[in-house]
Amino acid sequence: MPERAFKLYDTQSRQVKALQTMEPGHLRFYSCGPTVYSYAHIGNFRSFLAADLVVRTAKALGWRVSWVTNITDVGHLTQDDVADAGGEDRMEKALHSKEGEQFANVWDLAEYYTTCYLEDWERLNLSRPEVRPRATQHVREQIVMTEELVANGHAYETPTGVYFNVDSKPDYGKLSGNTRDKLKEAVRDVVMDDNKRQQADFALWKKDDKHLMQWFSPWGWGFPGWHIECSAMARAYLGDTIDLHSGGEDNMFPHHECEIAQSESFTGKPFCNHWMHVRFLQVEGEKMAKRTGNFYTVRDLIEEGYDPIALRYALMSVPYGKPFNFTLQGLRDAMGNVERFRECWRRAEAAAEGPSTGIDGEGIDAFRAQLERLYDESLDAMCDDLNTSVGIAKALEGTKVILRESQLSQGQALVASRFLSQVEALLGIAPKPVDPQASGSQTSAYPVIDGRPIEVWIEERAQAKKSKDFAAADAIRKRLSDEGFELRDTPDGTSWTKSVP
Ligand code: AMP
Ligand code: ZN
Repeated sequence: MPERAFKLYDTQSRQVKALQTMEPGHLRFYSCGPTVYSYAHIGNFRSFLAADLVVRTAKALGWRVSWVTNITDVGHLTQDDVADAGGEDRMEKALHSKEGEQFANVWDLAEYYTTCYLEDWERLNLSRPEVRPRATQHVREQIVMTEELVANGHAYETPTGVYFNVDSKPDYGKLSGNTRDKLKEAVRDVVMDDNKRQQADFALWKKDDKHLMQWFSPWGWGFPGWHIECSAMARAYLGDTIDLHSGGEDNMFPHHECEIAQSESFTGKPFCNHWMHVRFLQVEGEKMAKRTGNFYTVRDLIEEGYDPIALRYALMSVPYGKPFNFTLQGLRDAMGNVERFRECWRRAEAAAEGPSTGIDGEGIDAFRAQLERLYDESLDAMCDDLNTSVGIAKALEGTKVILRESQLSQGQALVASRFLSQVEALLGIAPKPVDPQASGSQTSAYPVIDGRPIEVWIEERAQAKKSKDFAAADAIRKRLSDEGFELRDTPDGTSWTKSVP
């Protein structure tokens, strides 16, 4: 069988192309992590999840993956997203806010939000990166890089800091299209710093002996610019050139453009061969904002009773490159689908542990062939620029194949378990229920009505409708509705929602 290509849209060449690794079968991948001055929101996690899915897909292809994703725990400036880096320090601002009162200092604050971020990461079932470096632990590397950039003429010192001279890098702008001649336009809103040679030059180091987080450098006390940390950490762990780099769409300029300029001017080699940018998540049709009440963190939603795996499912239901409007209804629908995977696991485990059902007949071959085909198609979809909507749909079709059997044989149970494990490894939406007995408790993740999981009820209702026994089907809907579960019939099957108190 020919080897599958893993195709991804490359922002720099503006085309979908096969991800070519420098070393065959070994992906060197860097993805931008959060600034830990607050809880990461579900938009941030859309970006982190896309990175996780790259890793899962590459591993499903049998590749080795070296994945580095950083934690920005230095207090950067609120206007770091404009090339000039001005404004207030985000950490300091957070410390002086109402929520910040609980922290002793900025270090304490960064540590707290880092822990929360890692908890949310685990709860959304993201895989562990090989390295998760923190910017504050790599200031030395950032200083060394900055020193070298000054020495080789790409950067210069001013009374306020050290700046990268974009004129020294003729192809500056190659990623974002913000080339030097267009830059005046791109940064026109930025207050001109008289100390800079030109407006578009960006900060590598800021001199500031009043800053709450400060380090000593050849330029005195101060702190690094935001962009240099990713250049320094990517190089420290992955080498001079990496295969793939990702982040949210806002990272493309100036952050990633500046990373390219710094890294390539430092090493004299290409920095990254493939760029991936995740479209911003919108919530209920709008940009997420505390003001409009549509600002969701992972922990808020979990505390409200939503299942974290369903949240993961909902967040990845639309491919990363497409606009995505997150809604609570979408999340409720996801809960029913995630439950289907759990029910498959329960049945497979019960059948595997149950009495021997003898030798499987021909049926098992057809059963196996269907599940193998569906997994293959799911993987194909993921290799097609992470087409998660098709990838998930194929996996879900597999649950129908499993749940259609009134009783799995032991052979089928094995085949089903293998399918579920593969889906879990690839998509992360089908973890094995930790304790099947726990399904007896009435938690929102494992609803059981009259001693039977909701999926069994749904399946029975489907059978009743098929055999035109509408009275029985309606009775099931009514029984579930009495318990607060509403059923929704969609072309993909029936999902359920429970009103969250
Ligand atoms: P930050 O903590 O602001 O540096 O963001 C961490 C990551 O989340 C970056 O890669 C951002 O581009 C990404 N990001 C921020 N907001 C969103 C959003 N609404 N949708 C998708 N990604 C986002
Ligand atoms: Zn970064």
